[in-house]
Amino acid sequence: MRRETRWESRTAGPQFGERPVRRSRSAKGQSVKGQSAKRRTAAAAWALGLCLGASVLSGCSYASSAELRSQAESQAAASQAGDGQTAGGAGAGSQGSGNQAIGAANAGTGAQGEGALSIGSAMETPQAQTEAVEVTRTQAAPMPTFEDASDTVYVKTGGGSVRVRSSCDTSSDENILGNVSYGTELSRTGKNSEWTRISYEGGTGYISSEYIAEEKPEALVTSVSLDPSWTYAEFSKINSGAATFRQSTAENRKNITVCVNAGHGTSGGASVKTLCHPDGSPKVTSGTTAAGATTAAAVSGGMTFADGTPESQVTLSMALIFRDKLLAAGYDVLMIRESEDVQLDNVARTVIANNASDCHIALHWDSTANDKGAFYMSVPDVASYRSMEPVKSHWQQHNALGESLVAGLKGAGVKIFSSGAMAMDLTQTSFSTVPSIDIELGDKASDHSQAALERLADGLLAGVNAYFG
Ligand SMILES: [Zn+2]
Repeated sequence: MRRETRWESRTAGPQFGERPVRRSRSAKGQSVKGQSAKRRTAAAAWALGLCLGASVLSGCSYASSAELRSQAESQAAASQAGDGQTAGGAGAGSQGSGNQAIGAANAGTGAQGEGALSIGSAMETPQAQTEAVEVTRTQAAPMPTFEDASDTVYVKTGGGSVRVRSSCDTSSDENILGNVSYGTELSRTGKNSEWTRISYEGGTGYISSEYIAEEKPEALVTSVSLDPSWTYAEFSKINSGAATFRQSTAENRKNITVCVNAGHGTSGGASVKTLCHPDGSPKVTSGTTAAGATTAAAVSGGMTFADGTPESQVTLSMALIFRDKLLAAGYDVLMIRESEDVQLDNVARTVIANNASDCHIALHWDSTANDKGAFYMSVPDVASYRSMEPVKSHWQQHNALGESLVAGLKGAGVKIFSSGAMAMDLTQTSFSTVPSIDIELGDKASDHSQAALERLADGLLAGVNAYFG
């Protein structure tokens, strides 16, 4: 059973639709810095689940968590011509294939096969099929011969990683040297139709040829919509749109996903109300919505700059610039909005970020008109608010992320308002279970030229680097 479970953790990836690791992990109240290693492991595990989910779901408009599991299992079992961990083949092609519900991962630190695993209770039947396929193939295909090669190849899967083994034998886990992720560059030393021989960590490794490409694959892109089973999803009123996950192809890919949320840009959002807090309690500060209110605009329209440019247009430009810098720096990016409009309210944006990213950064400009500088919206020091979940378990992370971003902006020469923080009770932070911040990058009078946005993005990137460093 142990072997089966381990195989499954790598093949089917993290289970879909169950509670993601982030929620329980970040609820422990550990220091933010101290969580980096765990966060990375979880992010890697999540990426497996996301991408596998995408690959098996191409063409589906929606699948429940159970359906996702079932599809993933059957396809994984049926596709074992190679040694990959995914059904393969979706790649960038999954972009725009509709509002796919992408499940969340819960493999935890056991995702790479060691330690306590929480996967598998619903998978006995497909697992048995997989076992049979593997054994049969091993008996039919003894150690192959190789045609020598000396070139560079790349890992190309449906998104997950592929195992590297010390021999061409899939009947045991004992020969697994490690895993290589989508887009990884490899030095090929030999090939045949089934196996590819590579240089691996100073020695020789073998990897299924099915997951090898000679051309560097495009960045993996998948859409992520709100899964109704996710915690707090039921508080969302506008959620027919989808966010976009983009995997970095940088050599130093970090396995950390940053959610970039271009503020505003949901037509009709201002006339729909959502609860300010998950427990229905009233807002503790005034802002766009007054203190004491229990509901607020699902997504407000945003302000208009002094020169007539809508805030939503500038936040989008900013998000696209920031996205590209993050990808180049090795971060995967979850883009809430990449065009003028996305039908996702603030709750949906937050819940998607909770389940598909390691931190959530919402980009805004303030409605004052005196070019006061940048600041982040900190979590108000109000006992009732800080004792309400999920704020209780995460407010320190939110503030720490905000501090990092403001420090990064300051380092990039951006003008900072006052102490760089303003306490504000926001829908975003009221529902966030990952480090989450609304950053106000200036106001109506601020320069929002391309050059100014580039500088802001440099500052934000420095802040992200410091936070995860
Ligand atoms: Zn705004």
